[in-house]
Amino acid sequence: MAYRIIKTEENPILKKISKQVTDFDEKLWTLLDDMKDTLYKADGVGLAAVQIGILKRVVVIDTGDDHGFLELINPEITERKGEQREIEGCLSLPRKSGVTLRPRWVKFKAQDRNGNWYEAEGEGLFARCVCHELDHLEGIVFTQKLAEGERVRISED
Ligand SMILES: [Zn+2]
Repeated sequence: MAYRIIKTEENPILKKISKQVTDFDEKLWTLLDDMKDTLYKADGVGLAAVQIGILKRVVVIDTGDDHGFLELINPEITERKGEQREIEGCLSLPRKSGVTLRPRWVKFKAQDRNGNWYEAEGEGLFARCVCHELDHLEGIVFTQKLAEGERVRISED
């Protein structure tokens, strides 16, 4: 296990599209383990591989609810319902926050570390987090998903 350095917004890699994972091997497992350590060390709720400089469609999430810790490989949102406008931040955009427009509820499918497909669903923070992390795989950050009339807020420290 190891911590990885989180890339911040000056880094152009955050605008790139991540590639599908085809090999479910020890290299992937090490990446997942490192992402878990990095997520908890940074006190975040979600992390995409691109945020540590790896352009693979890999995400880890722990929003502190019944879903527990989840590994999402090649994830896709399959259903969404409703809307929510809540404040959002990002480990790659330290000190920035903003109110985004997201679905209230989402269902997604993803592969686990062995390549097996599974589905999960959730609302509130979980739904926001899934949308936020999947956007990272497309090179999109939350400041591009602000609700109408909202602007990026910058905290002092
Ligand atoms: Zn983020």
